[in-house]
Amino acid sequence: MSMRFEIVTIFPDFFAGFFENGILRRALAEELVAVGVHDLRAFTHDRHRTVDDRPFGGGEGMVLKPEPLAEALASLGIAPKAERLAASQQVSESSGQPFGHPTRTRVILLSAQGRPFTQAMARELATADRVVLICGRYEGVDERINEIYCDLELSIGDYVLSGGELAAAVVVDATMRLVPGVLGNEASSEFESFGVADAEIEIAEDGVPRSQHGAGGLLDYPHYTRPAEFGGLRAPEVLMNGDHAGIRRWRREQQLRKTLTNRPDLLEDATLSKEDRKLLEAIRQESE
Ligand code: SAM
Repeated sequence: MSMRFEIVTIFPDFFAGFFENGILRRALAEELVAVGVHDLRAFTHDRHRTVDDRPFGGGEGMVLKPEPLAEALASLGIAPKAERLAASQQVSESSGQPFGHPTRTRVILLSAQGRPFTQAMARELATADRVVLICGRYEGVDERINEIYCDLELSIGDYVLSGGELAAAVVVDATMRLVPGVLGNEASSEFESFGVADAEIEIAEDGVPRSQHGAGGLLDYPHYTRPAEFGGLRAPEVLMNGDHAGIRRWRREQQLRKTLTNRPDLLEDATLSKEDRKLLEAIRQESE
């Protein structure tokens, strides 16, 4: 059964080109993933197809009204979350499944005020049957939609976008590639950014660690390909001489350097060996 994304937006055209390229296009063609885009204005009943109104309490901007959003969700069979929870508890009691979700649906509000979207969250969402993404616009969405329907409020970063569409596209992209079968054999998400912790990667088949970063890990090391010389710079010799132990050491050191420079926060939770700590100390001293 394929996983389905439902996107509720006032700009359905935004997503047109997005489905026509790369992995998502293939996942759609192979029916591993399905996407429905729903025009919020189709759920209005006035001549002007009004989706927004002035904020209570005054202030700048407009707010997306709750009624069209509630209708859009009802058209997708999305009940208020209290009802969904009660229904899933009934099913779990009768089926004996501890966390029985008959259809595992997640309703998400894209919002700058949301919890940060991470690879771990993408991994969790990829296990759902259906992910409903509500794209805000203007000053945002009437908070009662969040309270009544949404399982999660998600932010894709600490900046303010003009709408939730880009954020929804990010969530669809990062999540759908973790749906089983989507990446195929050519690339395994295990060995990507935020894939698995270092300890598990240590046992990579050829003895050379592949990309390893993220929770419990570090940032990736730099990658090089042919030609060996480009723009007056030669690719590191160590990568071209087949010495796996040397490659391994070099990559680890580069990971430590990159992480220290770009994301020192990751070092706090990284799993570091004694040798890593020594290297890190040496790198720190270099820059003093
Ligand atoms: N008044 C809001 C605030 O200060 O948090 C900003 C509203 S923003 C201009 C309009 C819409 O863009 C939001 O309702 C949300 O759907 C989306 N949006 C903006 N920044 C986002 C982010 N970092 N992550 C996810 N969605 C975002």
